[in-house]
Amino acid sequence: MTSPIIKIDDKHLPLYRVVWVSDVPHFCGEPDCMHEGDYEVRLDVDLSLIHI
Ligand SMILES: [Zn+2]
Repeated sequence: MTSPIIKIDDKHLPLYRVVWVSDVPHFCGEPDCMHEGDYEVRLDVDLSLIHI
């Protein structure tokens, strides 16, 4: 994923609202899991219209 943060003038703006960030790394026990140990960030991707 590319950075969800853009810079306009002197402000760093998130492209999406962060809904939640996990407190502990991902663990599900699946042997083929590609995200073991990753922290999870949920973004509100429905917020597709921004005005700048
Ligand atoms: Zn997993």
